[in-house]
Amino acid sequence: MAENGKSDYFCDMNRENTNIGADIEKAINILRAGGLVAIPTETVYGLGANALNEVAVLSIFQVKNRPTFDPLIVHIAQGSDLGLYAEEPSEMAWRLAEHYWPGPLTLVLKRKSIIPDLVSSGLETVAIRVPNHPQTLDLLSQINFPLAAPSANPFGYVSPTCSSHVHQQLGAKIDYILEGGESKVGLESTVLDLSGSAPVILRRGGLPEEELESFLGMKIQKTLSSSRPGSPGMLHSHYAPRCTLLTYSGDDWHETSADLSPFEFSEAYWIRFSHELPGVDKRRQLILSKTADLNEAARNLFRSIRELDNRGASIIYAEKVPDIGLGRAINDRLTRASSRLFG
Ligand code: AMP
Ligand code: MG
Repeated sequence: MAENGKSDYFCDMNRENTNIGADIEKAINILRAGGLVAIPTETVYGLGANALNEVAVLSIFQVKNRPTFDPLIVHIAQGSDLGLYAEEPSEMAWRLAEHYWPGPLTLVLKRKSIIPDLVSSGLETVAIRVPNHPQTLDLLSQINFPLAAPSANPFGYVSPTCSSHVHQQLGAKIDYILEGGESKVGLESTVLDLSGSAPVILRRGGLPEEELESFLGMKIQKTLSSSRPGSPGMLHSHYAPRCTLLTYSGDDWHETSADLSPFEFSEAYWIRFSHELPGVDKRRQLILSKTADLNEAARNLFRSIRELDNRGASIIYAEKVPDIGLGRAINDRLTRASSRLFG
């Protein structure tokens, strides 16, 4: 990071001849007509469509090349709208909504039939959240339907944290990208399933589980396995770049990189948590947070992976961060990015 706290590899702000803009009215008109608009949120940019319009929702899956067994998160304007789309939310759901929304927490609840099957991939539940972003909240408050919005990237690839990332990969396929600056959290939401008898974390994300546990005064079960049906964002391989990404902890990089020839080693790129690796070319290293701040590291994670992928890296070595708070979600994404099973 540069001295002024801004990233050294700040998002490309060249907006000429693009469908990027800050025109909320235009975005609303497109959404009303069943079109696709990328929306800024505090977690990552979402690819939004009218959640109640099945044709529009289908186009989300097509543009992302996302399998229809992977359900979408429904974005609403305010917590008090929860009961419009979820069947009798529990007292715990209302408490969490009131406390954490708008914010990076998604609640999985029993689905009302107004939500099309396609949104929920045929499950009896629906995932709902209120995103914490001024432009998107403004937009949501002016429409009378919720937005289905998965991350605005091709399925399986790293999520976008600024409008140029969306433009780079999906720009030609979508109607508009609402400009909203850089995503402040930079990781997807924490997904909490409240549809059973006890809450279960299905996906680690922008709201640390320690915080949820302390708010609820209880230990929360985690079902983070990729085998659980209905939570396919947890596929083993996800959030991955085109190149090979390998993770390591502390000094393990010696072992992780032992198979490389000296030439290959000199060609590798490094994502480091807080300080550079001595003896390795500084220009081949990106630091997530010089002050070892997990919030800053989360904000820089996807952009760093993307940046190195765009530079043509063939191998990235990524250092795991401390496994506490947001660090758990960061490590989760690194692990998934390192499982390169998709094409
Ligand atoms: P994305 O918006 O791309 O970050 O993905 C949304 C993720 O939320 C999915 O991949 C699932 O893991 C999770 N999700 C959405 N709807 C449900 C649901 N009804 N039940 C369980 N998990 C869900
Ligand atoms: Mg996604």
